[in-house]
Amino acid sequence: MIPARYAASRFPGKLMQDLAGKPVIVRTYEAAKETNLFDEVYVVTDSNIIYETITSIGGKALMSVKEHECGSDRIAEAVEHMDIDIVVNVQGDEPFTEKESLKKVLEVFEGDDADKIDLASLMTEISDWEEISDPNTVKVLTDKDNFALYFSRSPIPYPRDKNACAKYYKHKGIYAFRKAALMDFYRLPMRPLEASEKIECLRYLEYGKNIKMAITDVEGIEIDTPEDLEKANRVLTGNVSSVKVNGQEIDHPVYSKLRNFPMVPKVIFGEGAFNQLHHILSPQRKKNAPFIFLVDDVFENQPEVVNRLPLELNDKLIFISAASEPTTMQVDNLVEKIKTEFPVLPSGIIGIGGGTLMDLAKAVSLMLTNPGGAAKYQGWDLIKNKAVYHVGIPTISGTGAEVSRTAVLLGPDRKLGLNSDFTPFDQVVLDPELTKNVPADQWFYTGMDCFIHCVESLNGTFINAFSKSYGEKAYDMCLDIFYKGNLSENEARAQLMMASWHGGMSIAYSQVGAAHAMSYGLSYVLGTKHGIGNCIVFNHLEEFYPEDVAVFHEMMKKQGIELPEGICRDLTEEQLEKMVSVAMNMTPLWENALGADWKEKITNERLRSLYLKM
Ligand code: NAD
Ligand code: ZN
Repeated sequence: MIPARYAASRFPGKLMQDLAGKPVIVRTYEAAKETNLFDEVYVVTDSNIIYETITSIGGKALMSVKEHECGSDRIAEAVEHMDIDIVVNVQGDEPFTEKESLKKVLEVFEGDDADKIDLASLMTEISDWEEISDPNTVKVLTDKDNFALYFSRSPIPYPRDKNACAKYYKHKGIYAFRKAALMDFYRLPMRPLEASEKIECLRYLEYGKNIKMAITDVEGIEIDTPEDLEKANRVLTGNVSSVKVNGQEIDHPVYSKLRNFPMVPKVIFGEGAFNQLHHILSPQRKKNAPFIFLVDDVFENQPEVVNRLPLELNDKLIFISAASEPTTMQVDNLVEKIKTEFPVLPSGIIGIGGGTLMDLAKAVSLMLTNPGGAAKYQGWDLIKNKAVYHVGIPTISGTGAEVSRTAVLLGPDRKLGLNSDFTPFDQVVLDPELTKNVPADQWFYTGMDCFIHCVESLNGTFINAFSKSYGEKAYDMCLDIFYKGNLSENEARAQLMMASWHGGMSIAYSQVGAAHAMSYGLSYVLGTKHGIGNCIVFNHLEEFYPEDVAVFHEMMKKQGIELPEGICRDLTEEQLEKMVSVAMNMTPLWENALGADWKEKITNERLRSLYLKM
């Protein structure tokens, strides 16, 4: 049941406001339906407009007859004559209500103590004192079995003993009632605690009902104000202006002009640097805790590299194929495997390989100390705990993954990085000799990732002196290697290794652009790998980067590279649409490439026709 009152006091008509193309109430209704958790979903409203909006999309709506004080009363009236067991109250202004939270609330009715439960609700832990003391945030205390003891707008418990580490929980407005409890609520008059705190669920406690609380760690967005609506719009269009960190709203790092980010604190460079690995790792070794080496499986047949790995005691070597882009599931499996085999956290994770292995090593080291699956942390600053010590040793140059603040993973819903202050490596070993056996075409594709990072950063609207200083240097180094060809093989290897580093630093303070946005589309739909995907796209981007695409064509010729053609020709309409929409959703990338008004400059049609050329 979704109670929907038209006249909200703080934000009149909010449920009919547009949220990424649909009214808020329609988004909420669809979200509730999509969970597949309910036999029926109804919107219960006092408004003809809302009623008609929902029924016009084939949804179910009920008009309430009476005036109601609160949502529970509205629902009670609606279900009074229905033959139902449990009814769930989903707030009309919570379009992001997601399945996991609802499921948790419903699951409490399957526990051993189910008989005792009159209703269930949801809470989430909060730690920011400002939020804890905010009277708009309702706090809840529970007993050891998670039955609610009290709800209050005051901070409860009072932290007299600062060392006691009391936990604070915020109440979230989702309820699942047994019908009898709901009908009781409807009939019984308000009592003093509810009247004082203005918290509905106190009425249940005041009449001796049992409320069982489920715990969630998902923070939804409620739409209480026009600002909330704008934020929700940005979230749905992938265009997020701010994020919540420890309960505080901060500028979204992608949009903020100023960024405060960690750089790799230790780096060793030069031929033979790899031989120092033993000395580098020794001081980090903890008793009984192994080092885990994640190594690209091309080295399985290269004893000259594998035999130099300083494996000791219970250290573990895991070969990993880089044949496809790294996934959140792959990370979860590796973490599971390590945790099962070793009773203690490893001393460190050492990643050896290309961008794929760099990202896997970063992600595994993060997920060893952060609970739950990796998909949950795709995004900005969602990681809460420091990673285990991690070392990156690139064996192919170009991505900048060795220096970046992100670990890009393909998840169930999207391709997005674990972007956090804990992501960068603690140590990087740059030994150009390790890149000796990279095949020529792969050398070009990954090298071009660096070239394209520089082009997109230098031509973007986010450009600044910091990014320029790194980007221009890396751009010139790429020209030496792939265009002028004035370097020996050894020099070229060393130079591309440093160009990769500088290219990575350049985008750290700006952003990539049109080529990466479109390449993400290719990779999402066709599984095209990052390096070659960028090349395929960039090859056709004259209209965005005319001079640099001309240089790129020259470099292809000089390096004897031929790219596959017509890869989008046989796509179904649906696939093509998906590709365009994945690319279009990369808001910060387009904003960097074309400016804040990018939506007026690029259309779905234009992207479509570009893809069809590729
Ligand atoms: P990769 O790691 O997928 O490796 C490409 C190929 O080169 C693989 O077949 C690999 O086995 C082989 N290879 C690597 N080293 C070799 C060596 N010394 N000798 C012979 N073969 C070798 O490719 P990549 O282009 O380095 O990385 C692409 C990945 O990096 C993508 O998953 C992309 O998402 C990611 N990426 C991450 C960032 C970041 O900041 N985290 C930036 C850009 C790209
Ligand atoms: Zn890239």
